[in-house]
Amino acid sequence: MIAVRDFALGLGARGGTMIIRNGRVLDPANGIDAVQDVLIVDGRVKQLGPALAAPADATVIDAAGKVVCPGFIDMHVHLREPGFEYKETVATGTRSAAAGGFTAVATMANTHPVNDNRSITDYILAKAQTEGVVRVYPIGAVTRGLKGEVLSEMAELAEAGCVAYSDDGKCVMDAGLYRRAMEYSLPFGAPIISHAEDPTLAHGTSMNEGVVSTELGIPGAPAAAEDVMVARDVILAETTGAHVHIAHLSTAGAVRIVRDAKARGLKVTAEVTPHHLVLTEDAVRSFDPNTKMNPPLRSKHDAEVVLEGLADGTIDCIATDHAPHAMSEKEGEFDQSAFGIVGLETAVPLLLDRLVRPGTIGLSTLVARLTSDPARLLGLPGGSLAAGRPGDVTILDLGRELTVEPHRFHSRSRNTPFGGWDVVGGPVMTIVNGHVIASASGFGPANEVGR
Ligand SMILES: [Zn+2]
Repeated sequence: MIAVRDFALGLGARGGTMIIRNGRVLDPANGIDAVQDVLIVDGRVKQLGPALAAPADATVIDAAGKVVCPGFIDMHVHLREPGFEYKETVATGTRSAAAGGFTAVATMANTHPVNDNRSITDYILAKAQTEGVVRVYPIGAVTRGLKGEVLSEMAELAEAGCVAYSDDGKCVMDAGLYRRAMEYSLPFGAPIISHAEDPTLAHGTSMNEGVVSTELGIPGAPAAAEDVMVARDVILAETTGAHVHIAHLSTAGAVRIVRDAKARGLKVTAEVTPHHLVLTEDAVRSFDPNTKMNPPLRSKHDAEVVLEGLADGTIDCIATDHAPHAMSEKEGEFDQSAFGIVGLETAVPLLLDRLVRPGTIGLSTLVARLTSDPARLLGLPGGSLAAGRPGDVTILDLGRELTVEPHRFHSRSRNTPFGGWDVVGGPVMTIVNGHVIASASGFGPANEVGR
């Protein structure tokens, strides 16, 4: 169990001073993998090295036997506020992030009202300051109301602090409008994040199209629904020179298209979710509504090719697509149930247990895909432990044995297909701005024991 401290980011704006001793420091951005200390002063990384001297007032963390990483960044979550506070809020969503080892999240625009103008961005950032416990980076809508008809206030959104643009949840079908959005995005250096799904191919479907959907009698969406839009968006990226990022990439075809785009030097990047890496369409045989997501869980072949893409860098990063829903929205008939699952508190343990432990992907690659890679895509200050960077740290225990217990989630929602899974490896401490925000029981600051 990870306990989260009631420590809103705004209150902790004054950075903390801390020394993390004797951990295996893994900082892929700087090619570091060695046992040493990390010194954070006033909320910023000051120095890495063996046996560092620390100020007398420093919080001391004994990380012997643990892995000390830059703070993990999830560039695709739905905090649901404003408008859907019964599913999640900035307060609960950021606590869920902290408990899962994430020090920063980027939150999608499909709130109510939609984050398509500065007043909503201001609202989200104000909430993050007063109630959030990790860094929150808003993503602005591409089109007003996510309707796909008129562009949002893109310049205003960038000024207000949005780090990317996306109509995630919906695909912008008007290619002419999308092209203009890409052109407008250029001066802000913020990517356009594509929800690549052609609704004319996917309408009315609840899972992947294939043998399993035929057996189960559930209408399936073909991989082509994703592939055709990824292809279109790559072509528009080439036309405009814009940075286009493919959200939750899930098909072998999309991997091939993105790989080709990168080889030709286009600014096309992509992310994959943990569930598309560790589950396939076979999971739907349970008829558990928590196996229903968009894009759907794909075939074994798709999952294998996507994993190859993650390992070779075709896919730049891992993002959870944390999509909280109330119990009532995930019960009953499979085809009536809402799409999506929560992911912040299961992502890191699942990835460590199912991908790193069997040796499918190296720990250093995994950490890069959760730190320096998303930071690079969104132009964020975190993702590295270089001197001067934010004092955000995630500490892992690769031997920690866990059972996924949804009723203990810090998230307001419980919709996960991973309840009851036994996994080995997980986060034990989350540090933001030099302050301990979350820690596993029995693993706290050494100089706070008995306080
Ligand atoms: Zn999403």
